[in-house]
Amino acid sequence: MTFQDFNFNEQLFEGVESMGFLNPTPIQAMAIPTIMEGRDLIACAQTGTGKTGAYLLPVLNSISKSNKHHTSALILAPTRELAQQIDQQVEGLAYFTGISSIAVFGGGDGIVYEQQRRGIQNNVNIIVATPGRLIAHLTSGVLKLNHLTHLVLDEADRMLDMGFSDDIMKIISYLPKDRQTLLFSATMPGRIRSLAKAILKDPEQINIAISQPAVGIDQQVYRVHDQQKTPLVQHILKDSAFTSIIIFASRKEIVKSLYKELKGIKIDAMAFHSDLEQKEREEILLKFKNKQLPVIIGTDALSRGIDVEGIDLVINYDVPGDPEDYIHRIGRTARAATTGTAITFVNHRDERKLKNIEKLIEKPIKLMDLPDELATIQATKPESAQGGDAKRKPNRRWGKKKPKQQNTGN
Ligand code: AMP
Repeated sequence: MTFQDFNFNEQLFEGVESMGFLNPTPIQAMAIPTIMEGRDLIACAQTGTGKTGAYLLPVLNSISKSNKHHTSALILAPTRELAQQIDQQVEGLAYFTGISSIAVFGGGDGIVYEQQRRGIQNNVNIIVATPGRLIAHLTSGVLKLNHLTHLVLDEADRMLDMGFSDDIMKIISYLPKDRQTLLFSATMPGRIRSLAKAILKDPEQINIAISQPAVGIDQQVYRVHDQQKTPLVQHILKDSAFTSIIIFASRKEIVKSLYKELKGIKIDAMAFHSDLEQKEREEILLKFKNKQLPVIIGTDALSRGIDVEGIDLVINYDVPGDPEDYIHRIGRTARAATTGTAITFVNHRDERKLKNIEKLIEKPIKLMDLPDELATIQATKPESAQGGDAKRKPNRRWGKKKPKQQNTGN
């Protein structure tokens, strides 16, 4: 299948070509014809599959044929970073079509709010928004969505996780009933199905099975105790050929303290978390994307939707609780058929989470030998001091060099 098969408007087709999209990805091949028929859609697909193009292209094609004097499409996304990224794809794909768009998200100062308000008043064709800020514009009466024809919920599962359920329902109460609704979600828990039932009409369902990690990712595990983690980061980064590195931790407190520790040992890293001003977050991301910053440390918020080319190493400073988050995290490397390395630190508390991940990816992850100089570092604090379960006895195997025969290499 090629993009010609969709018979897009010529200006839109030019946009597709200028973005360098040669052939539709599987989710695009499946979703675009359904959306062009005008059907509602519920699609299970993750970042990296081309899901944004899968809904943007048919929506843009539809808007390009319509009267462009009002807001026709609303795309809701969980985070400002994702909203901005979607808006950038709109700008790229719609470049030759004359369709206008704006990203509307919280944070920022009064000037940002004012810019958003003016964009909205100018009847921008597409609004990409986080739910909270959109409600502010709706309730202030500035934003009228009576002519809306398309509603997209992107990363719907994440929006529910972040507590946006009521906000979404409130926003929908402002929309015309006669509209096309498209729901994209990386996972399909019962809550998403209930939401879909409430807001979609006779939807077509598409399921891109939970994608396995790209084959180009060399996945490795180190068994460590907490005191060995930072020295191990230092060991891995020292003299390595890695140039663009993401370190994930599950909580922002860990992100902040790791940032301090790495700074102390002169590793050029920055921490990315929700306590930073939006401008600071944007600057950090831009530096990282432009390869002026080699190491970025963040929580799972960074694992979704962030599309940076050339990341060659992902370190999981701890094991994510949801095995699918592991796939999201390590999927930041080896994008677009390149190769990359994903290293996960596992302490004894995280062993079960590792097992769940191995079950999901249907193979054991290669167990690495701790370097000799780190194997002797003792667990000085009780692990409860770092959020662990003090009642459990530390397993002697953690933080030791593994016996040779335990190598489960793949
Ligand atoms: P997404 O899953 O929407 O976050 O897209 C992941 C990346 O794939 C983005 O950088 C898109 O620009 C890119 N992309 C989307 N569709 C295509 C396509 N058909 N061909 C090549 N790249 C694409």
